Amino acid sequence: MDPSYDKYLSNVAKEIKASDIRELLAVIRKKPGVISFAGGLPDPATFPKKEISELAKYVIEEKGDLALQYSETKGILEVREALSKFLQDTKNIRVDPEDIIITTGSQQAIDLVTKTFINPGDIVVTENPTYLASLGTFRIYGAKVHGITIDEHGIKTDLLEKEIKRIRSEGGRIKFIYVIPVAQNPSGVTMSIDRKKHLMEIASTHDLIIFEDDPYSYFIYDEGVDTTILKQLDKEGRVIYVSTISKIMAPGIRIGWIVSPPELTRRFELVKQYLDLHSPTLNQYILAEAINRGLLKNHISKLAPYYRVKRDAMIKSMDEYFSREETWYIKPVGGLFLMVYVYKKGFDASNSLPIAIEKYGVAYVPGASFHTDGTGRNSMRLNFSYPSVEKIVEGVKRLNMLIRETAG
Ligand SMILES: *Cc1c(COP(=O)(O)O)cnc(C)c1O
Repeated sequence: MDPSYDKYLSNVAKEIKASDIRELLAVIRKKPGVISFAGGLPDPATFPKKEISELAKYVIEEKGDLALQYSETKGILEVREALSKFLQDTKNIRVDPEDIIITTGSQQAIDLVTKTFINPGDIVVTENPTYLASLGTFRIYGAKVHGITIDEHGIKTDLLEKEIKRIRSEGGRIKFIYVIPVAQNPSGVTMSIDRKKHLMEIASTHDLIIFEDDPYSYFIYDEGVDTTILKQLDKEGRVIYVSTISKIMAPGIRIGWIVSPPELTRRFELVKQYLDLHSPTLNQYILAEAINRGLLKNHISKLAPYYRVKRDAMIKSMDEYFSREETWYIKPVGGLFLMVYVYKKGFDASNSLPIAIEKYGVAYVPGASFHTDGTGRNSMRLNFSYPSVEKIVEGVKRLNMLIRETAG
């Protein structure tokens, strides 16, 4: 007799369900001819393969005894020092290497921060919509998520302040405010400098912690965009800053980092030791070399021109094919995504997805799952980093046919 595993599973494991969308997307992968805007992958053509293979060889041959060994939980000192220089260089902020902790991708950072702060029933405030993997993590730990509406300047900080007061007046315990200030995933929105300053003011007035997730501010497609990170504005030690090399080098290396005030870094370090002892030593050494030799910075400078072409192809085709009265999106200044809202009665992106795939050969992620409150059923998240320019143009045409088909 087979054991009945279910009765032994934890509540957490039972709580995590594979979504219908996940299954649909697995179907697409096997269907030739479907143009997919549904993924979230960087274009592998950007991976610096030759450089990484040289660095890997060098690190194993010259530093193999250390690089293949167990190492410090918070990350090897060399990579923390290199990241400190990198932050000084790219963001003009001084960060003590002791205030940096290396994580296994920023997903582990998100998990670590959540695990360190959240008890079931605690409240996390986010942008609405927000990053799906963070939303999932917050919920696994039992957080209640309150999303705040965004517009073209980012999270609406006036609404945020009202919501904070309301939650507090009802006895709610807000643990942190999670934001992706630059080239937000999924919406593509970048916060204006005024909103950033207002957010920091609110955090100070109401004694709150900000959790800043920043995978994208290092490569920006347009001139004159304010890419200040909240950490730069943080005078009181309220910001926990998380970033990653996933989008600026290669996600398979799985290295991210947290910059936080010393007391918190110590806490994160203690929690992390039971997750994985430390992040891969070899990959950390590779990153340290990539930074110290100037390879990372040089590589980043090539990303923006490369992805700008794809972003522009998507925007141009949407402006050409979509009806302006019926659709709305924010032009992303960076990142890999944008979100299209369709204002046509009866259009439901979740219900339409099977038709999009079967009849029109195009796929997207229905926006509802990124929204914290069941809204956004009229929205679709589109990825422009992975498909070729040709496919982007053709895919947008197909999406337009799908939207047209909705009776309205
Ligand atoms: C892509 C992305 C990440 C990256 O996660 P990794 O675990 O570092 O690969 C984190 N946050 C957001 C908002 C992202 O879009």
